Amino acid sequence: MLKKFEIVTSLSLLLLLCSIATSGFGQTENQYLGPIIDMHLHAYTNEDFFGPAPNPTTGEMSTDNATEHRRQTVEILKNNNIVLSMVDGESPEAVDAWEQILGDGVIRGLRFENPEDLDLNLFSEWVEEGKIDVFGEVGATYAGFSSADSILDPFLEISEEFDIAVGIHTGGSRPGAHILNPDFRLRYGDPFLVEDVLVTHPNLRVYLMHSGSHFYERTAMLMVQYPNLYSDIAILNWYTNAEVFLVPFLKLAKDYNVLDRVMFGTDQMVWPEAIEMAIDKVQSLDFLTLEEKEGIFYMNAARFLNLSEETIAKHHDQE
Ligand SMILES: [Zn+2]
Repeated sequence: MLKKFEIVTSLSLLLLLCSIATSGFGQTENQYLGPIIDMHLHAYTNEDFFGPAPNPTTGEMSTDNATEHRRQTVEILKNNNIVLSMVDGESPEAVDAWEQILGDGVIRGLRFENPEDLDLNLFSEWVEEGKIDVFGEVGATYAGFSSADSILDPFLEISEEFDIAVGIHTGGSRPGAHILNPDFRLRYGDPFLVEDVLVTHPNLRVYLMHSGSHFYERTAMLMVQYPNLYSDIAILNWYTNAEVFLVPFLKLAKDYNVLDRVMFGTDQMVWPEAIEMAIDKVQSLDFLTLEEKEGIFYMNAARFLNLSEETIAKHHDQE
């Protein structure tokens, strides 16, 4: 028979074990295990590939060529049940190589920084030929342009007409970005600059990439005001120190009731391992319910992309 203090000690031990179970192993209860959509991946050619470069969070060195980068990334996508990815390239050709491997698991994006480099006729041709599903990443802020600069208007008009989604870089960049990109300005990453685009093109499907990072409060405000505006949490979920934006943004989005328009993305750039870092980060956020994680990892993007019930069922069968 146990003495009183032994009973107390045993009870404490039991409680301790229970709390370890819920905080550690118990996390599996709140882990999302279904298919994932990554709304923010980049394709490169061997010409525009910028590795080898150290992962800004881990220091691990990337590969030095686009072919190996693609091979590594595809393997990680498959291992993590990422069934659909928005992959953008500086030209449709860069995305072709991905589509050859992943087929309809690829949403084709067109990435650019300087809007002056875009050719409207070529763009229309690509759209009509089905070579572009997403106009973006619009990285105009790197070239010293606001995302709402009138130079983009004709491209946005075509996107609206052909129901091409638009992904706009919002927020900051790596510290010191202006050294390599002298025209970069943080102020052009202000999500409020996108407001006029939302008003002028009411039927355009727009998502704010990086959820505005430094300006996350403005992203959440805009999402309240504009019920068809979405965002992705790429970079915020793996980049060094970016959690200072991720956690308060998601909490605010939850409070404002707009969390069902926040989508998963990674922006792994040349570091495929960042995809798993990003998944683990979102899985570890215990203020999110399992249903909210399911929304972020899959359902919100499925809605934004107007995926058919058949496609959604197929993605769930792939598990
Ligand atoms: Zn970006």
